[in-house]
Amino acid sequence: MRKSDLKFFKNLLNTWRDDLLQQADGTVSLLTAPYDNPSDITDRASFEADRNFMLRIRDRESKLISKINEALQRIEDGTYGICEVCGEDISVERLKVRPVTTYCIECKTKQEAFEKAAGL
Ligand SMILES: [Zn+2]
Repeated sequence: MRKSDLKFFKNLLNTWRDDLLQQADGTVSLLTAPYDNPSDITDRASFEADRNFMLRIRDRESKLISKINEALQRIEDGTYGICEVCGEDISVERLKVRPVTTYCIECKTKQEAFEKAAGL
């Protein structure tokens, strides 16, 4: 991969991670917001539903953030954009769509076909 491409993805991943972290901050303050009226069952139920929803989002976000961190680490190691299965370069077009991917399109397609066949 060209140096200019690596720089592009490094910026992209850093900005993406910052956005996610900022969103996560917002989620935390919502999670710790006190009940206005704890005796109101309806409010309490919807607060609990919101809270569960937020926790699910946070779980997904934190997984994504660790994937972004791994991708940034691969940029440092010089292994970013290399398929971890076949060792071929992953196309820049594919990385622009999925910057944290570690599979080239051929291996991803094979993996998905395998998972489908195995009923995963
Ligand atoms: Zn591959």
